[in-house]
Amino acid sequence: MSRPILKVDSVDTHYGPSHILYDVSLEVNEGDVVALVGRNGAGKTTTLRSIMSLTPPTNGTVRFRDSEMQGLTPHEVRRKGVSWVPEDRRVFPNLTVEENIALAANVEETKFHDDVFDRFPRLDERREQLAGTMSGGEQQMLAIARAMVGPTPDLLMLDEPSEGLAPQIVDDVMDTVRELNEDGTTILLVEQNAEMALDIADYAYVLETGRIVHESPAAELLAEREIMESYLGVH
Ligand code: ATP
Repeated sequence: MSRPILKVDSVDTHYGPSHILYDVSLEVNEGDVVALVGRNGAGKTTTLRSIMSLTPPTNGTVRFRDSEMQGLTPHEVRRKGVSWVPEDRRVFPNLTVEENIALAANVEETKFHDDVFDRFPRLDERREQLAGTMSGGEQQMLAIARAMVGPTPDLLMLDEPSEGLAPQIVDDVMDTVRELNEDGTTILLVEQNAEMALDIADYAYVLETGRIVHESPAAELLAEREIMESYLGVH
């Protein structure tokens, strides 16, 4: 039996006066790919921001391994082993691939820096290329590579990695996610593209207007046509 490495328990999150997440609870078991799916604006990004302590919850708890995340800075959450690839990728377009990677690393971590190029040979070939001149898929790979630099994350959270990418490139990105998982990284995958996320996930949660409305093994959710249609717009 694998045990949960992440436990989000009864979390409420606000942006100023706006109440966004209501009593959100979810668990991620070590070694799994867990999908968090839901429509536009359901609160998926806010859930990741709450876990990273970027928008700290107003209620409830986030535990990662044996630590409570409350009161930690996002940097401290990262040092505990939780890494995050934001939706907009945030690569520096006027810096090379290598400079983008170097910025994500601390000086004492240069050895990890080379590990990353071993793991992402397509980026290794493009070390000198300006990130802004790369394709969307290559930029997504760079964003994922940056999240893997430094102390190896035990949990990698990806926010809509398929967004804006052609189907063939989405497959490449998903293969990378699968490989990282096979190499031992636990994954929390946020996606609007529910079918694609459920295809690689072990377990899934559905978020709707800030509330978890369904949880089950991913394969079971794929078979629940009513839920797929009503919450995820899949016909
Ligand atoms: P998307 O796929 O569109 O990013 P999402 O499920 O990730 O959707 P969130 O980005 O978490 O959803 O947004 C949830 C709600 O919070 C939305 O109604 C959004 O308008 C609101 N929201 C997000 N950021 C802020 C903010 N900084 N201030 C106020 N409201 C916000």
